[in-house]
Amino acid sequence: MITPERFFTAVPPTINMNIRSELFSTNEFTFAVAVILSAQATDKKVNEVTPALFRVAPTPAQMVQLGETGLKQYIRVISFFNNKAKNIISLASELMAYENANDANYKFPEKFHSRDALMTLSGIGQKTANVIMNVLWGAPNIGVDTHVFRLAHRYGWVDASDNTPDKVEEKLLHKIPKKYHGIVNHVMVLHGRYVCRALRPLCDKCPLVKWCNAPDRIL
Ligand code: SF4
Repeated sequence: MITPERFFTAVPPTINMNIRSELFSTNEFTFAVAVILSAQATDKKVNEVTPALFRVAPTPAQMVQLGETGLKQYIRVISFFNNKAKNIISLASELMAYENANDANYKFPEKFHSRDALMTLSGIGQKTANVIMNVLWGAPNIGVDTHVFRLAHRYGWVDASDNTPDKVEEKLLHKIPKKYHGIVNHVMVLHGRYVCRALRPLCDKCPLVKWCNAPDRIL
């Protein structure tokens, strides 16, 4: 069977561990915007629109200046763009209260360096906060997205009663050794996206194949 120890030993050498997210961003604010846009959308789709958007609005101040209507022009091919535009403008407006709101190398003020504090900001729910904490600051938490959720079930690390991201995160935090917590999301997302896909997984290219007893493994 695929144990967490086997998974987190065998898979990292097969992926790029230096790039912590495939989302395009230019600073901590644009990374948060990209993560908000990526809900129910692929990173690839988000990356098609963000370079042009972040050229004109890379800071909270410039995003507020662009405004909701202006922002929608850039993101209208992204699912739920109306709601996301509203949230992003609210987020940018809230960050205007802090002194670095027009800094091209924007960094979140220290007071937001916790999941609970990030979640007080518009558009940032638990999953978005987890990804920001994990990717930007290496925090050892586990953002459960569609790939993490799916692989955790496929490998038997969680069971059918773990039917929400919260329950899966809770279980994984106990199941996976602490030394791997900072890389769980990155490694599981890339392995799930490119090798252990939902349909037609690339088992012949998988470093876990000798331990895998997933029912949908392709021999
Ligand atoms: S062998 Fe196939 S099903 Fe098993 S982990 Fe690898 S890609 Fe996924």
